[in-house]
Amino acid sequence: MTEVYTGRFAPSPTGLLHAGSLVAALASWLDARAHGGHWRVRIEDVDSPRCVDGADLAILQQLTTCGLVPDAAVLYQSQRGGAYTSALQTLVDKGWAYPCACSRKEIEAAQTVTRHSAAIYPGTCRDGLRGKPARAWRLNVQAVQAELGLPALTHWFDRRLGPQEQNVGQEVGDFVLRRADGLWAYQLAVVVDDAAQGITHVVRGEDLVDNTARQIVLQAALGLPTPRYLHTPLVLGTHGEKLSKQNGAIALNLQTPQAALAALQSAARVLGLPALPAPITTTQALEKWVAMHQSPR
Ligand code: GLU
Repeated sequence: MTEVYTGRFAPSPTGLLHAGSLVAALASWLDARAHGGHWRVRIEDVDSPRCVDGADLAILQQLTTCGLVPDAAVLYQSQRGGAYTSALQTLVDKGWAYPCACSRKEIEAAQTVTRHSAAIYPGTCRDGLRGKPARAWRLNVQAVQAELGLPALTHWFDRRLGPQEQNVGQEVGDFVLRRADGLWAYQLAVVVDDAAQGITHVVRGEDLVDNTARQIVLQAALGLPTPRYLHTPLVLGTHGEKLSKQNGAIALNLQTPQAALAALQSAARVLGLPALPAPITTTQALEKWVAMHQSPR
């Protein structure tokens, strides 16, 4: 059976699109079109405290103004709790997910002792909760790798950045699947939904590159396929900082078709598409994208 290219753009509705998120949206749309494939939009609203009311519809409107229209109904992660619960149960049944009682403070304190970098979970609760109440659920990375015969070093290929590798167990540790506040972790939600939507190609911002090895381990644990990945260049602010809604990146003004075309022009420039006379159209950008990725993988 030949694979049907299916790509996606997966914004978190924490605010309007900014210049950086439009780059990811445009690139994922261009790549899907260049492959004659499908393009889906998924609203990643699992982290409900960070979501802004109405931002989902506003983002969809911004995409429409730019001519980036999904081929199927938009999927909302807030409606996917059942699928995440059964994925976690699958992992628990296999003995690959365990409850964790550690508070953030305790994890930080353990790291000071072991001199690990701040993000690494030292595996404190892997062998039991020591009578404390469960808070979060974590993936036992080493158990998954050992039982599936996977190497500790996860190798993968990025279509723009080339070969990548990460030792998830050592560089990240047993990562969270369900948070202490009961919310689903991004890693679990994204892996379950990419598979449920039949995503074959993930095209997203380079700020997410570091999550990919974790997602590949989790896909293996759940018996799900691994898509191909391409991480797009980041848009930097005037002081070289990464643009994000958290650091106050300015929402794009896409009120008019002219403004949308100008924003697309800038996004196309970030993607390294050869200079096009402004305003560009998505069709012109598509021709250039196809030329740049002659034999897209
Ligand atoms: N929801 C994530 C974001 O807005 C993107 C996740 C992904 O593309 O895997 O940064």
